[in-house]
Amino acid sequence: MKIELIKGDITKQEVDGIINAANTSLLGGGGVDGAIHRIGGKEILEECVKIRNRQGGCKVGEAVITNAGKLKTKKVVHTVGPRWNNGKSDEIQKLENCYINSLKLAEENQLETLAFPNISTGIYRFPKQLAAEIAIKTIKNSKITIVKKVIFVCYDEENYSIYENILNKK
Ligand code: ADP
Repeated sequence: MKIELIKGDITKQEVDGIINAANTSLLGGGGVDGAIHRIGGKEILEECVKIRNRQGGCKVGEAVITNAGKLKTKKVVHTVGPRWNNGKSDEIQKLENCYINSLKLAEENQLETLAFPNISTGIYRFPKQLAAEIAIKTIKNSKITIVKKVIFVCYDEENYSIYENILNKK
């Protein structure tokens, strides 16, 4: 599996699947979630509402999959990152689960190329260095067969240089 790093906007990525850093309501929010729903249009939200009605939202660390509306991608995987609570709420394991469960859904849906945002490092305030280490380690250690390429899409310079450092070291 190939890992790529770019600095940019995840809604512009031409990949099979985009990962969204959603919240438990699945009804949209700020940050990358807001951007995905804004560009993708109402089709995505409609499917999120259906999932919500069926299973009552999405738990932290878990993931659900929807259509991608107007985005240049086949599917959107919505995963809910943990809100940083000084490491007292099992946040590390929960963030790891976001990557594991997103990959699992991608494999089940035959998505070969994926773009991940820096889950939890915005509004949820997870320390960026630690979040990047978890993201990269979890993706590298995952036993996947269908996913061929993962792109880490960093929106801010700080995340980009953190990822660059970790990826260049290994
Ligand atoms: P969370 O609540 O999980 O912290 P945020 O959306 O606030 O979610 O932030 C997650 C990451 O997504 C942050 O690093 C933020 O800079 C980044 N981000 C915000 N908008 C975009 C976008 N359009 N494309 C890619 N990443 C984005």
